[in-house]
Amino acid sequence: MINKKDIKIVLNDIDKILNRSGFRFTKQRLIIANEIFSKNPKHFTVQCIFKELIRKNKKVALASVYNTINKFVELEIIKEIYVDQNKSFFDTITKPHHHIYDKSTGQLSDIPDGSVKISNLPDLPKGKKIQQINIVINIENHSE
Ligand SMILES: [Zn+2]
Repeated sequence: MINKKDIKIVLNDIDKILNRSGFRFTKQRLIIANEIFSKNPKHFTVQCIFKELIRKNKKVALASVYNTINKFVELEIIKEIYVDQNKSFFDTITKPHHHIYDKSTGQLSDIPDGSVKISNLPDLPKGKKIQQINIVINIENHSE
């Protein structure tokens, strides 16, 4: 039997959201959730969570890491950030903010919401409004 009090989740309402959604905490999912929320807030990839769990000798399947993370995205507990067509990160901060992605180091950093001004937005299709704008600025090393 898994004790939910074992989950060191910093965000208070995650437990409630998971309960309401009928999400079942199997031992594997609990281990994965612990790893994601142990150091909050943070950006991570499926691979880095998987590698970290292997390093800690935790027995989890890569598929379980994918499935659990995807479920958390679906429940809007974490957010997916696409940095390019082949790579996406996940973010434990779900409120709107922008990112800088350094292709040379693979590092994703936050840009606070409001520090980027967006102008000349296109006309939107009839009956549509902007739900959210997520900017990822890709940077690389610059040689003089
Ligand atoms: Zn972020």
